Amino acid sequence: MTLTKTGQDLHLMKIAFREFYFNYGNKVEEPSKIQNREFGLMSLDGVMKRHLKFSSLGGLFASLILETPSDVFASNALYDFPVLPISEKGWRGADLIFDIDLKDLDLKCRQSHSFRTCLSCSSSYLSGSDESCPKCSSNSFAESILPCDKCIKGLKNEVAKLHSFLTSDIGISSEKIITYFSGNNGFHIHVLDESFNDLNSQARADLAGYIMGIGILAEVIGAWKDTRSDFRVRFPLGGLDYGWRKRISDRLGISITSQKKLSNMIKELGGLEQFRKRVAEITKEMGVRIDSQVTTDVHRVFRMPGTLNGKSGLTKILCADLNSFDPFDESCQISSREVSVKIMLPKMKLRLKGQRFNLTEGVVHVPMFVGVYLISKGLAHAMDSNP
Ligand SMILES: [Zn+2]
Ligand SMILES: [Zn+2]
Repeated sequence: MTLTKTGQDLHLMKIAFREFYFNYGNKVEEPSKIQNREFGLMSLDGVMKRHLKFSSLGGLFASLILETPSDVFASNALYDFPVLPISEKGWRGADLIFDIDLKDLDLKCRQSHSFRTCLSCSSSYLSGSDESCPKCSSNSFAESILPCDKCIKGLKNEVAKLHSFLTSDIGISSEKIITYFSGNNGFHIHVLDESFNDLNSQARADLAGYIMGIGILAEVIGAWKDTRSDFRVRFPLGGLDYGWRKRISDRLGISITSQKKLSNMIKELGGLEQFRKRVAEITKEMGVRIDSQVTTDVHRVFRMPGTLNGKSGLTKILCADLNSFDPFDESCQISSREVSVKIMLPKMKLRLKGQRFNLTEGVVHVPMFVGVYLISKGLAHAMDSNP
């Protein structure tokens, strides 16, 4: 991330982030059993320090003001000795966390607001318009997205689907599922049910696979291979009333009494192979687009709620009500005082903190939260004239 930032950019971010932690540092959420967590701090110039320990939020708060990190992380795992190397930490379970990120959703709008910043000449350009930098032809670049309202809608839709799987299929009660906006391009869903903490990586991978709809076969709803007549229908003994069986059969409009209807449907599609493809389409569409690696990793450090995301300057923040939550408003907590930045794109539109901005290339005076947002994404640079 740092290669696209100048000394003035880092200076402005430092002022903005320090001021934020001075005003809002007391809103950083304390993880349970803080003394058993590993902490990680990423500096503004991109150096990650891990294996840190804080016995209280007060100690962390002091580091936030003193060091002003770009990103602040705490482990999902609990350890006997958080500061030791991973093999010696003494793992004592990990919170179950899900990550829903724009990169895993194939949204059509994405192309129109994905940008590249050239690492050689630092000009910015729309991704996909050119393979290499239009100014210097370099092929090394950093990518960033300015998510739009459609992106947020798409993300919220996946969060709602995940919520449904966790409550109805896995049996987790709603009040134990906490949703946060990540501060940039996604949502983090934390499960506060300790009965899941002992699950190892493989069990978490199985859970993630189920939620994503991976490996859910036509047999699940009773369509079996038959050597003589291509297929036969034999509904599962447990019925079609729950889980993927219910999802798929509801979608196809079949019930436990419609054996004939399912047979006809398979024949009309052209046989079992075609029907299997249909089931695979349904599971892909109805499964949740989570990043399974995040859920599977039991030694990961996660961005802390209430801290800034260094890729945007927005706060990772609790979504009390997913439907009405507006990340471009509620998570924008950097100061509003005016700064000067040089915009590196011909034009762009933004909506932040209840205001709309139509910006064009060149030097502009904007609120600090806009300047920091664009500098974080490599789409603007701070000017000398800033304090
Ligand atoms: Zn270039
Ligand atoms: Zn979009």
